[in-house]
Amino acid sequence: MRCPRCDEENVRVMTKSPVGDAWEVYVCDTCQYSWRSTEEIHVHDVFKLKAADIPKLQQIPPVPPLKTK
Ligand SMILES: [Zn+2]
Repeated sequence: MRCPRCDEENVRVMTKSPVGDAWEVYVCDTCQYSWRSTEEIHVHDVFKLKAADIPKLQQIPPVPPLKTK
């Protein structure tokens, strides 16, 4: 399985649904992206990463400020 953000095959199962086999959560050990098996994943090009570029990033992409009323 390839990571939808960085296209590396460095993906593992992080956790599974507590009851039955309803879903699994996968995590990419290259870029830390995680997603649930039941999601239809589409990563916008703006958020794609290349594994070779990750060590050169100057900061972790910041979480946007919370919306205020
Ligand atoms: Zn990745």
